[in-house]
Amino acid sequence: MTPINKILIVGAGFSGAVIARELADAGYAVTVIDSRDHVAGNCHTYRDDKTDIMVHKYGPHIFHTDNERVWQYITRFGEMMPYINRVKAVSGGQVYSLPINLHTINQFFGKTFTPSAAQSFIEEQADTSIDQPKTFEEQALRFVGKDLYQAFFKDYTIKQWGTEPSNLPASILKRLPVRFSYDDNYFNHKYQGMPKFGYSQIIVNILEHPIITLHLNSSFIKSMQTDYDHVIWSGPLDAYFDHSLGRLGYRTLDFKPFYGTGDMQGNAVINYCDNSEAFTRVTEHKHFSPWESHKKSICYTEYSRNCNAEDIPYYPIRLVDDKALLERYVDLAHKSNGVTFVGRLGTYRYLDMDVTIKEALETADALAEAFVSQQIP
Ligand code: UDP
Repeated sequence: MTPINKILIVGAGFSGAVIARELADAGYAVTVIDSRDHVAGNCHTYRDDKTDIMVHKYGPHIFHTDNERVWQYITRFGEMMPYINRVKAVSGGQVYSLPINLHTINQFFGKTFTPSAAQSFIEEQADTSIDQPKTFEEQALRFVGKDLYQAFFKDYTIKQWGTEPSNLPASILKRLPVRFSYDDNYFNHKYQGMPKFGYSQIIVNILEHPIITLHLNSSFIKSMQTDYDHVIWSGPLDAYFDHSLGRLGYRTLDFKPFYGTGDMQGNAVINYCDNSEAFTRVTEHKHFSPWESHKKSICYTEYSRNCNAEDIPYYPIRLVDDKALLERYVDLAHKSNGVTFVGRLGTYRYLDMDVTIKEALETADALAEAFVSQQIP
């Protein structure tokens, strides 16, 4: 068997970069290509030239994790500044705090509940006839009841996913906690932060290695495969197979930027939960870097829609049809030699950054071991 010498990684997002780095550290020469003109995939950050503000080009990304190895890893490649994501939500003409917490409940129902009184009250609202919630809607009705579901989740979810919440899995809503305290931290994780110099700088630092070669503006073509002993693919799973079985469904996002001065909305992210606005949320990027000061401001209004062939895929939809098609692609992937599929697009899953890094580290460990023993996937 030929020893593994040349590795091609397609995609310079977290998956591709972390695997490249780990393999390079293990002594393997790695080439990384990305069709875009920047690294970091959809986590890409850049300084806006009109305001000098660090902008999350593909929407808000807040780093949070419970995983020690992942936190050690990311902080090795970039300074993380303390940052707590506190989201506001507009519903029925009022501004509330999300995730649903004691303040949200008291404000919404016009009460002054204590934590235990709120808990009992919400239990009365909940539809306890739903034993094991399977859909997003069932999960919401079971745990927060009809009124809060309709105010905060129903229309937002239809805008975000383009389908009724009864068609979506409960797992999407399980991302959000419900709290009976005034804690309005959007995440429960032990570690949370924002990179001082942006996500792209972290990826640049990860990729800075004598035996990693990076080519931007460089698309994968099948003939490249013969020049490499192994390919690691972090692009869309169906794209690797030229969509031969059909297209997996994704949602894409459109951002409409607008400029102003001072503090335009008072918070990084405000969600719009009613269907009177077509957009889902507005992000004011300067609030992601509270340690900087800027006179001007840039905001992004965010719209979600189905992803066409020429669009950038963001969220895997994973409805019943997609899951059936996914199984067929996974089958093809298992039968393909010399390629490993990784990351959100390569495995068609809704992954947060920390999970992406964790899986990339594990994949790199497994690949390095396989290359040594020649048990190549
Ligand atoms: N969601 C909602 N209303 C909100 C915020 C979230 O209905 O104000 C739902 C929506 O379906 C969303 C899901 O909860 O897709 C998960 O929210 P999260 O904030 O994790 O979404 P992301 O930031 O990944 O878009």
